[in-house]
Amino acid sequence: MSAASLKPLLPGEATLGVMGGGQLGRMFVHAAQSLGCRAVVLDPDADSPAGLVAHEHIHAGYLDEAGLARLAEVADAITTEFENVPAQALARLAERRFVAPAGAAVAYCQDRAAEKAHFGASGVACAPYAVIESAADLAAVADSLLPGILKTSRMGYDGKGQIRVRNRAELQAGWDELKQVPCVLEQMLPLALELSVLSARGADGTVVQFPVQQNLHRDGILAVTQVPAPAVSEALQQQALASAARIATEMGYVGVLCVEFFVLQDGSLVVNEMAPRPHNSGHYTMNACDVSQFDLQVRAMARLPLRTPRLHSPTVMLNLLGDLWFDAAGAERTPPWDAILALPGTHLHLYGKTSARPGRKMGHLNITAATPAEAERLAREAAGLLGLPQDW
Ligand code: ATP
Ligand code: MG
Repeated sequence: MSAASLKPLLPGEATLGVMGGGQLGRMFVHAAQSLGCRAVVLDPDADSPAGLVAHEHIHAGYLDEAGLARLAEVADAITTEFENVPAQALARLAERRFVAPAGAAVAYCQDRAAEKAHFGASGVACAPYAVIESAADLAAVADSLLPGILKTSRMGYDGKGQIRVRNRAELQAGWDELKQVPCVLEQMLPLALELSVLSARGADGTVVQFPVQQNLHRDGILAVTQVPAPAVSEALQQQALASAARIATEMGYVGVLCVEFFVLQDGSLVVNEMAPRPHNSGHYTMNACDVSQFDLQVRAMARLPLRTPRLHSPTVMLNLLGDLWFDAAGAERTPPWDAILALPGTHLHLYGKTSARPGRKMGHLNITAATPAEAERLAREAAGLLGLPQDW
């Protein structure tokens, strides 16, 4: 169903639906509820973080006809919290309800080859790459792409489905290890740092953006986000914002879109990938901005006005992975939340997951302060208390 003929869904009246019940869905539910909306989650997991806090949890698989029918019946508009939701599911929902982002936009984000083609169409440079779908494609790879990173075209996240390859022999072995599924090979770039930009685009074409985020990853998983980005020039920030807006507009996107970038050692900017939803690197917006990424997700799908968010506090976000729930000897522990909350400007968000595992995203800690230096100092103190590295 297209938005053109649709009126805004008003706070206090609407029911908003989300495909997926992880932490992103949970924070979406909270944002919807803060406007007095009802929230409904479809997720197969009985203990899903979002399902636990929604008005209704449709406990069904993403392709379950009855589950999808129920969601389309109760929700006035529907969004998604993850890009790997099956395209048929979004298409089915869109027959009856406004779905934002649309299935076609989500499809770009599901497939690295389609995504990179879209970046090219938007006039935004990405890493040199080749699409590998056959042995002939593999043999035809240019030498200049090695050393490189071989990434499965579909279903990768948090660095999973990626293998670093130095030469042709490793490329062949890597593709075999990935079961010869369709892949892209990207040239290994000399990164100086990583950035992301969150944009929200409305059905009327309005684009609003959060400030540029500077991100540090550990083992392929986001660890720290800093805003304002301490090591990025104003000109480069403007370039990243403009590129992200073009990428969103070029595909007629409606909703919140995260675009990840690399800054190379020569100072140039290269797009990495995008996510059709709020993003881990935008969690700081919950406490450091006057509207959060989840508020804008709600507004975009409800066709409510989008306003440019204002960063009111410099901030550092620390991701809280399941590793923190274990001591050095491997025994379970509860992290020292009382000491963390005793620090000024700490905002603790836990996702209500029933068990901790190393690498599992359990929550995040936003630290806000009056100045970037103070946010930095407090974040280091918090990291020390938690036993996290201070490598940013
Ligand atoms: P997520 O979805 O969690 O963001 P992902 O599994 O989709 O991650 P990417 O973002 O493609 O993976 O890559 C993960 C990390 O690997 C990047 O953040 C970056 O640190 C590094 N990386 C990826 N591609 C390249 C490249 N071409 N050159 C150098 N480093 C890279
Ligand atoms: Mg990434």
